[in-house]
Amino acid sequence: MSTYDVIVIGSGPGGYVAAIRCAQLGLKTACVEGRETLGGTCLNVGCIPSKALLHASHMLHEAEHNFAEMGLKGKSPSVDWKQMLAYKDSTIDTNTKGIEFLFKKNKIDWLKGWGSIPEAGKVKVGDEVHEAKNIIIATGSEASSLPGVEVDEKVVVTSTGALELGKVPKKMVVIGAGVIGLELGSVYARLGSEVTVVEFLDAITPGMDPEVQKTFQRMLKKQGLNFIMGAAVQKTEATKTKAKVHYKLRKDDSEHVIDADVVLVATGRKPYHDGVGLDALGVEMTKRGQIAVNDHWATSVSGVYAIGDVIEGPMLAHKAEDEGMAVAEVIAGKHGHVNYGVIPGVIYTHPEVASVGETEATLKEAGHAYKVGKFSFMGNARAKAVFAGDGFVKIIVDKDSDRILGAHIIGPGAGDLIHEVCVAMEFGASAQDLAMTCHAHPTYSEAVREAALACGDGPIHM
Ligand SMILES: Cc1cc2nc3c(=O)[nH]c(=O)nc-3n(C[C@H](O)[C@H](O)[C@H](O)COP(=O)(O)OP(=O)(O)OC[C@H]3O[C@@H](n4cnc5c(N)ncnc54)[C@H](O)[C@@H]3O)c2cc1C
Repeated sequence: MSTYDVIVIGSGPGGYVAAIRCAQLGLKTACVEGRETLGGTCLNVGCIPSKALLHASHMLHEAEHNFAEMGLKGKSPSVDWKQMLAYKDSTIDTNTKGIEFLFKKNKIDWLKGWGSIPEAGKVKVGDEVHEAKNIIIATGSEASSLPGVEVDEKVVVTSTGALELGKVPKKMVVIGAGVIGLELGSVYARLGSEVTVVEFLDAITPGMDPEVQKTFQRMLKKQGLNFIMGAAVQKTEATKTKAKVHYKLRKDDSEHVIDADVVLVATGRKPYHDGVGLDALGVEMTKRGQIAVNDHWATSVSGVYAIGDVIEGPMLAHKAEDEGMAVAEVIAGKHGHVNYGVIPGVIYTHPEVASVGETEATLKEAGHAYKVGKFSFMGNARAKAVFAGDGFVKIIVDKDSDRILGAHIIGPGAGDLIHEVCVAMEFGASAQDLAMTCHAHPTYSEAVREAALACGDGPIHM
């Protein structure tokens, strides 16, 4: 039996970051992971593999659509799916090995196996029981499905199966127009699949700025994705190679069936804590099955903390990472802090979509007076040069003080551009502060400055 200051259960972005920060702060730390590799959902079956496939398929799209206009002639590349999967796997491998290296560097013990908490202060892994003054649960989440939809990870798949398909399907139906469904739907549409997205609501990407939602859906349609909106999926029927998706349109209750070679179920994720022993331990849960924590990520059981997808809040890797750092600081007697008002959300399609802070809808609901500054990428020289003039930056500010309350971007590099606004918001900056900051030309970030200018006397290039 070993004794630790901290044992982290789960090595996703929440868990591994918590473990590294704990070790950096001088705490004797171990991390339990049941998978064969470190890095959690994010590195193994989430953020990283999906981005590798998005990148590869985007390259194909560029070659097919934009090369000739730039004077790059010749045969378009064809898809070697096996090699594309091998490239994706090697990206995973480099990243998971990177975490292994960081664990060694920081002298963190990797306890291999599935962990449970038989009692406060103890973690059981296999037959061994370890003592820990503090335990951090970072066991993440798993894909959820719908009643009547049985996942086999071959024909009816979650995102995990969609990253491992035997071949590029001719017809794919994606259930759910959220981030994961649209990212993976885009991948297969670019690779030549006929992709139809079936969504219960009337707009894609729920909670996002409505103007962004409309523009985004228009752009995805232009890229070949089909949408059936306001449709409640009733069930799927699958054979070994094909499936039928039965759905009902909400507007008239009419029933329909659509055929597919592969059905991707992308209807969200739910917290995962099977086998940890939370019931017996008496850990309080929320109504939605998350571990309930206070604002120091402490559960109802003394010395037991929880972070990441398994607790409340957006299921995002960087939110889990921030909580990982903060909880380590709290355990070390410092002041861990996460600003939940400034957590960006990004969709890595092409173009990218990114947002942070308030939307017009949330402000209207709160009766908060605001102003909007908007700038189209059509007025940005760099974007036009790379066929990316479609899209815009929208900055929302407090009407009286000009303080930035939120930003919504659809366009080239949106996932990176958003951080300029995040930093500004962390410092309580006004749109004028952003507008008065010199931005290099020609960069996409000039569009952010122009949107900030649009909150005041007006943009220059529009
Ligand atoms: C396809 C896809 C794409 C995504 N893309 C993005 C993206 O681009 N950006 C983004 O921010 N987020 C993205 N996400 C979400 C992101 O992956 C999660 O928010 C993030 O991984 C949560 O981190 P976590 O540390 O809470 O848990 P996880 O990453 O889920 O890690 C939990 C780990 O705990 C382990 N574990 C569970 N129980 C035990 C146990 N009892 N004992 C030992 N080990 C255990 C699991 O094996 C797992 O490795 C994506 C998710 C998916 C599915």
